[in-house]
Amino acid sequence: MRKQLMTMLEERNEEMINIRRYLHQYPELSFEEANTANFIAEFYEGKDVDIERNVGNGFGIVVTIKGENPGNTIALRADFDALAIKEETDVPFKSKNDGVMHACGHDGHTAYLMVLADCLIQLKSSLSGTIKIIHQHAEEMPPGGAKSILDSGIIDDVDHIFGTHLMPVDSAGTVGFNSGYSMAGMSRFVLGIQGNGGHGSSPHLANDPIVAGAHFVTAIQTIISRRLNPFDVGVITVGSFDGKGARNVIKDRIELEGDARYMSVEARQIIETEMHRIVKGIEIEFGVTCDFTFTNNYPPLYNHPEITEFVKSSIEKMDDQDIKQVIEFPKFSGSEDFSYYLEKIPGTFFFIGCKPKVVEKAYFNHHPKFDIDEDSLLVAAKSVGQVVCSYFQQSHHSELEKTV
Ligand code: MN
Repeated sequence: MRKQLMTMLEERNEEMINIRRYLHQYPELSFEEANTANFIAEFYEGKDVDIERNVGNGFGIVVTIKGENPGNTIALRADFDALAIKEETDVPFKSKNDGVMHACGHDGHTAYLMVLADCLIQLKSSLSGTIKIIHQHAEEMPPGGAKSILDSGIIDDVDHIFGTHLMPVDSAGTVGFNSGYSMAGMSRFVLGIQGNGGHGSSPHLANDPIVAGAHFVTAIQTIISRRLNPFDVGVITVGSFDGKGARNVIKDRIELEGDARYMSVEARQIIETEMHRIVKGIEIEFGVTCDFTFTNNYPPLYNHPEITEFVKSSIEKMDDQDIKQVIEFPKFSGSEDFSYYLEKIPGTFFFIGCKPKVVEKAYFNHHPKFDIDEDSLLVAAKSVGQVVCSYFQQSHHSELEKTV
């Protein structure tokens, strides 16, 4: 099955690239991907699979490929939403939806997974088990699509889950892994401070919320430096401080807003608890009234070590001209709603190098000039295809299960 699959993927490389280019021209924002979802679903129409549409809180699609023989169930996931970015590349298949762009490679994720899935459908007579293909909507916009797909129950029977992301840090042919907590969780906070406005010349007759807010901004940094374990990681950023007013007027009320990132659930709990404490302190210290909300968006992404090792070693063994190196991918502070799946289902999320050949330094994901080396699509398809083959070939699934 393995050899057959790799040959099929090679033969359909051009199709993969064409699908990616088509999707790239017609990007759609999170929760608005009606046409993209139609395009994907139509691709599977008439094939020997179950297609479930509008899964979760949007346009999610789950395609079930049942093997000839019974066995474990795995899920493969690719996201398909784009971003509110005006594309600034010169590619001939540039976005035709003004102000919307596939600047995170989700077009590539979708293209490789569609073709890989189709090949697996054709090979299902040699498959012992079930594969659920998750084409996920709205990864870019919290609350995201992943959690709602899980909550729908449609993947309750999945034993293990795998996903990949294109990253322009390494060139095509590089596959990167990180074990344990690998990507940051993120939360958003909003603080409203109600003071008492007045004349700038007479602060004693007013109650200045800007001074209280300024204390908050500096005080919360001490959560990172004084409350987190020095070996743990967290970042707090206040990105909006609504202090704009008149030079000599003490404002009545201000609002500020920020973002917290962390690499463990424990760190998130500490940040949240301590922020609430600081808010209380500011109320007492400055005599202001605060309303504070701390919303958890995506949890930190935890790659299950044994599964990660299994996937990594199976790709290392490939001996394939397109897979040039397997590396340890550094942990990074971006966030991904694949983390929700990994909270419930053991699995791993790994990284496919896609740095364009001609450039010295590639533009990172979410940049208006973000671009990929399309050779990376075949690398993604082959890597994930290899994982599927190794997984179902392995006769002792139970051993893998015992370890997670
Ligand atoms: Mn992404």
